This record gives sequence, C-alpha cells and structure tokens, in this order.
Amino acid sequence: AAKQSGRNQYTFFSMQMNQALQQRIDILQGVRTSLEQGHFHLEYQPVVDLSNGNIRGAEALLRWQHPERGPISPALFIPIIEESDLIEPVTRWVARQATADLLTLQALQPGFVVSINISGAALHQGSTRDFLTELKHSRQLPDHCLSIELTETSMIRHLDDCRQTLTQWKAAGMNIWIDDFGTGYSSLSYLHQLPIDGIKIDRSFIRELRTDNETSLAATMITMAHSMSLQVVAEGIETEHQRRCLVDLGAGLGQGFGLHRPMRFAALEQLLEAAPVPTPAP
Ligand code: C2E
Ligand code: MG
Ligand code: MG
Ligand code: MG
Repeated sequence: AAKQSGRNQYTFFSMQMNQALQQRIDILQGVRTSLEQGHFHLEYQPVVDLSNGNIRGAEALLRWQHPERGPISPALFIPIIEESDLIEPVTRWVARQATADLLTLQALQPGFVVSINISGAALHQGSTRDFLTELKHSRQLPDHCLSIELTETSMIRHLDDCRQTLTQWKAAGMNIWIDDFGTGYSSLSYLHQLPIDGIKIDRSFIRELRTDNETSLAATMITMAHSMSLQVVAEGIETEHQRRCLVDLGAGLGQGFGLHRPMRFAALEQLLEAAPVPTPAP
C-alpha cells in the first residue's frame, strides 16, 4: 500500500511539474504569437502631486489580452519571459509604444513624465539601452521625461556592474527609479553608490499607514530618501487617510487606485485635456 501511495504521490508531483512546465511553454509561445498579432497594449497609471492632485506623469503598465484566455497579468507572464530571449522584444514593444504616446502627452502637458518598467535581464543588455536612447533621439524627446523603474532585486543580483550600467542610462538622459522599494534588500547603503533619482515605496508599507504613522517604516524611508536628495513616489494609495498621512510625511508624489486606476491611453489624454496642469517652476 505504501508503495502504491508513493507511486501515486510521484505521479501527482510529476503531473504538477508537467503542468508548471506546460504553462511556461504556453506563455512563451503565446507571447511570441501575441507580439506578432497585436494582443498587447499599455495602460497608464497617473503619478500625482499628493498635495494638490495635479498629474505629473504616468507609469506604463503592460497588458496582455490573450485571444482565448482573456487578460493575463504581467505579474504572471513577466517573470516567465524574463528568463527567456522574449524579454527583449517585449521591452522594445513597450518602449516603442510608450515613447510614441509620450510625444502626444508632452504636447498636451510639457514636462509630462512617462516611466516604463525594465527587468533586470533587460537592464544590463546594452542593446535595450541603445534601443531606447535611439527612440528618444528619433522622436526628439527632451531629457528627463522618460523614466525607467528597476527593482532592488534586479540590481542587487548584478550590483557589481550596476553602477556603470546606471551611469550609462543616466548619460542617455533617462531618470532612474527604484521600484517596490523596501521589499528587496534590507541595507540601504547601496543607494549612496548609485546614480538614481528616486524611490517608489512599495504598497505594502502604504497599507500599514493607519495609526502610528510617525514611526512607520514609510516615514523612515521618506526621511532617508530626503537626506539623500532622492524623490519619493508612494505606491498603492487607496484611501484619503493614506494620502493625508503621506502629505504630512512629505512624500511628494503618489500613485494608487484611490487616486487613479491604470487606464487606456485615450482616457489619460481626456484627463489631461480636462485638467491641464502648468509645469512646475524649476
Ligand atoms: P509595479 O511596477 O510595481 O506596478 C504597480 C502595480 O500595482 C500595477 O500592477 C498596478 O496596477 C498596481 N497598483 C497600482 N495602484 C494600486 C493600488 O492602489 N492597490 C493595489 N492593490 N494595486 C495597485 P500590474 O499592472 O498588475 O503590474 C504588476 C507588475 O508587473 C508591475 O509592478 C511590474 O513589476 C510588472 N510590469 C508591468 N508592466 C511591465 C512592463 O512593461 N515591463 C516589465 N518588465 N514589467 C512590467
Ligand atoms: Mg513599476
Ligand atoms: Mg511598484
Ligand atoms: Mg510591484
């Protein structure tokens, strides 16, 4: 009987393994096909000035509308394609679309900033950086209107070449932000060594803002960021209470469902047309 159940267990696990493997294969094949057939689009989530709600820019978020399965979350398929050659063409697709949209947004609101997420794998490929730099030139986009968002883990894994890589991205006129800040690496000392513009505090720390905000981790991160002259975006703001706390703590910028949900480009255009914002004084 033991032998029997053992074999069943083995069959069960190998079935699970096969399923995971099959899912990866399906995703990789599906992404390849969808790139050709145009099943991707971007949504934009506004980044606002927390003190007055003015929109300063937006984060481009990739959306995959699978022809049979419907929408598939980037949190599911990005980690899979990150380990394959596909991360490069996907990143290029995002870059092409986001820079084209940014041209239109710049005309509506000079100084508007669009940020795109760059995986660790793509960050260190000179080809990805060259491609984005070339796009920026050919579309005649000014410096500092294009940001890249990087996660701590993607940088730590390559800390040795990181400083040099980031310096090259900076030299190309791009802003650099650390995404999901606080979730990846406990020591903050490495920030000193890197040419970054700001941190995006992960939404897990914003969710905790309820009562004792002065001693919250978010407060510590904001204080630290300011002491290093870094800008701060608070991610995942869902309530007015959180927004007010963050204004008190001096966070500056924020993003979240409570402010604006990610939206189609046309909706963002409409939003900016309805409430154009003057560029802040330098
Ligand atoms: P992220 O870069 O940290 O993006 C923020 C995520 O938080 C988005 O999820 C957004 O929809 C969600 N979010 C924003 N405000 C709130 C809020 O108030 N509450 C909650 N619960 N969630 C909120 P999304 O679009 O599903 O993206 C997930 C992740 O996928 C992104 O996290 C990013 O790491 C990755 N991703 C998305 N687009 C791209 C891309 O073009 N390239 C790469 N490499 N990664 C991407
Ligand atoms: Mg991001
Ligand atoms: Mg984030
Ligand atoms: Mg995230």
